[in-house]
Amino acid sequence: MDRNTHPNTPISASGISDCEFCGSHGQTVYTDLADRLFTAPGNWNVKRCGNQACAAMWLDPMPAPSELGAFYETYYTHHEADERVDTTRLTTGTEATSAKVKSAYVAQKYGFPLARKSIFSSLMAAFTWLTPLRRARLDHSVMFLPAVPGGRLLDVGCGNGGNIRRLCKLGWKAEGLDFDQAAVDTVKAQGLTATCGSLTDRPFPEASFDAVILSHVIEHVPNQAETVSECFRLLKPGGRLVMLTPNVGSIGHKMMGQNWMALDPPRHLYLHTVPSMTSLLTTVGFNEPRVFSTARETAKILRASMLIADHVSEPLSKRGSWWQRRKSHLLAMAELCFLLAGNQAVGSELVAVAVKPKEATATIPAPASLRSAA
Ligand SMILES: [Zn+2]
Repeated sequence: MDRNTHPNTPISASGISDCEFCGSHGQTVYTDLADRLFTAPGNWNVKRCGNQACAAMWLDPMPAPSELGAFYETYYTHHEADERVDTTRLTTGTEATSAKVKSAYVAQKYGFPLARKSIFSSLMAAFTWLTPLRRARLDHSVMFLPAVPGGRLLDVGCGNGGNIRRLCKLGWKAEGLDFDQAAVDTVKAQGLTATCGSLTDRPFPEASFDAVILSHVIEHVPNQAETVSECFRLLKPGGRLVMLTPNVGSIGHKMMGQNWMALDPPRHLYLHTVPSMTSLLTTVGFNEPRVFSTARETAKILRASMLIADHVSEPLSKRGSWWQRRKSHLLAMAELCFLLAGNQAVGSELVAVAVKPKEATATIPAPASLRSAA
């Protein structure tokens, strides 16, 4: 690794030649990418692992951790609470019926209690199993976690607390961790619990949580193995880690190449495939993690990617043309068809679910063990 200064900016950065996850040599596939979503400084290359069975990607050169704050000065604000799919929300009319079907689905699949059972809702929920996009959204609404009444859950990178609020309603004792004090203040203002800090500060005792979630966080993290091994340490034996992250092995990425929105240079430092994520999890001690992908975010990512290709500014806040919207949905359907055909590695969003072995001891893998192994 060569530590030096980024050639086009005064940012301290290091070249990383070998893959963090398998040790194979990387090759530069994209060059001179600027920030397409916000206004972070620099032009960046992206490398891909030369091992086709891994194919993870990473930013090159890799900014020093002390430099990362500059990339978030104009990033999403976490000052306002948001509203996502809420399986606990009670409304009227068709919305109420839809909410009952959603609740029945997560009750059937994840064991959450139902306030009132209905044969109609149960029947309709069974049909949800046949609609993969809707199923992915509902699975996401409970973060792919089975019910653990009174279980303690940590949302790492909790942002404005949308996940925490929803999961508390489902019976979790959920709390957040975020390095952004404004985000933590927003969470606390909703009467929820959050801590300002980073996992690497080790702010919680060992075996504190029944579940730890990282929703679109791991791709922003420079110290991948250290972060995931700290999650391992925080989980009780039998506890679950759930991570969501863009899938660089997706059909959407293959279609859009360097314009794929989820490359997001320079904030996305590491981008995973199913094999690289599996390697990361097993190296820190998780046995047989389940890593798969969904098309939940595909249309949104592809629409923004098309706007990036057309050099449209602020692509995240633009709807795009009628044709771009139709095309993004058609391409999302193509991804979905491959998923339905059994290729679980091609959706735009990776989902990793890993259980800490019940027999796990207090042995904590050394930080950055993957890098040294490579
Ligand atoms: Zn690799």
